[in-house]
Amino acid sequence: MEYEAVIGLEVHAQLKTRSKAFCGCMAEFGAPANSLTCPVCLGFPGSLPVLNEKALEYGLRAALALHCSVQSFSKFDRKNYFYPDLPKNYQISQYDLPLALGGFLEIEVSGAKKRIGIIRAHLEEDAGKLIHEEGHSLVDYNRAGVPLLEIVSAPEIYSPEQAYEYLASLKAILKYLEVCDCDMEKGSLRCDANVSLRKPGAKELGIKAELKNMNSFKAVRDALNYELKRQKEVLESGGSIRQETRLWDEVSGKTQAMRSKEEAMDYRYFPEPDLPPFVLSDEEIETIREGLPELPQALKQRFISQYELNSYDAGILTSEKALAEFFEACVGLYPRAKAICNWISGPLSYEFNSRNTRIESLKLKPEMLVRLIKLVEQGVLSNLAAKALLSEMLNSGRPADELIKEKDLTQVSDTKALDELLDKVIADNPGSVMDYNSGKANALMFLVGQAMRLSKGKANPKLVQEALRRRLNNA
Ligand SMILES: [Zn+2]
Repeated sequence: MEYEAVIGLEVHAQLKTRSKAFCGCMAEFGAPANSLTCPVCLGFPGSLPVLNEKALEYGLRAALALHCSVQSFSKFDRKNYFYPDLPKNYQISQYDLPLALGGFLEIEVSGAKKRIGIIRAHLEEDAGKLIHEEGHSLVDYNRAGVPLLEIVSAPEIYSPEQAYEYLASLKAILKYLEVCDCDMEKGSLRCDANVSLRKPGAKELGIKAELKNMNSFKAVRDALNYELKRQKEVLESGGSIRQETRLWDEVSGKTQAMRSKEEAMDYRYFPEPDLPPFVLSDEEIETIREGLPELPQALKQRFISQYELNSYDAGILTSEKALAEFFEACVGLYPRAKAICNWISGPLSYEFNSRNTRIESLKLKPEMLVRLIKLVEQGVLSNLAAKALLSEMLNSGRPADELIKEKDLTQVSDTKALDELLDKVIADNPGSVMDYNSGKANALMFLVGQAMRLSKGKANPKLVQEALRRRLNNA
């Protein structure tokens, strides 16, 4: 019996405002425990919340980028529950009149585009953090009151792969908008998943489990894969799925039941009396819409048509806003888009990945990369030497020409120097020369490699190959 998976995702994005949602405390990660608190976010009696205008603006930017219709009348509600990380014993959230409704997000899975509906996006405040140590627990309220945008997808995601792409696409948009850091490990992007199985063609949804505690996109995908397999086994053995919350355990690679939904609390929502409802005019909404940047999917399409790049290359370049901007700055200086793209997606990506950093933190200006590419194209540097030089440039922040002069890296292209090099390679490797002469074409590449090594990467590999072949064939 085959089943169809139905997945819905609830994402909490921490909005990166300087201060918290309803008070003036700084919203920073990693400050000493409880140093960023005040009577409002600690829930002292008589303190009054005031909405942070930036939090509203960031929420609106995200909602509009997700094609949601922003509601002209919206209000806050109290979601009541008792937990030590929640000093007021209620969370300020939005219930029946959220900020925005009915949008969508486009994803691409194996070349096919698919739209996934967004049911709603609403503003709320974060809770504090509990730190469990042996024999006792501690609480840090620095995070209490930090603004969140909750984004709820429709149950229109049909595989763990699609869920992964949904999150990747959402992250790219939020980062382009500069409204969220989207660092799942630091908790600035969190995701819960509702997952159920149903028989193909069935209209009704099956009974769902809610998955929590996934700290990376990969963890979301792994947890969904595990949970779908578990539910299938339960159904196939004649059992039934319990509606429950399950926690993903990264170490064991399993989900485990946390609490059943029958015991789930009733939140007794009611309107927040301390915050007036807010009314947004069409004009205000349009001003925000006009201020939206070019978003990753539109930018990718533009790169494909404007620079004649393929979808894969354009996808890499637009995966980060800073990368896309760096690419366009380079093309502005030197209109060889494909060559620049190859350098960015190849050697440069290798460098910032292996340094575990990002392009904006590197000491590389667009003109420096363009100059390096020109030096290779003019035959001054071999590709190999240029890659090594790029690494040096990133270490020192110095331009290529300065380093070339200092290190004497100019490519060896003159015939006399090459001849001397090849004399030595041929004399040192009689076995490979014999192999080549007896018809083993691979031996030539080995000899070219030896010549490159001997020249410390400075020989021009194309010339070496041509000269070697000529010499061996005439020998
Ligand atoms: Zn505060």
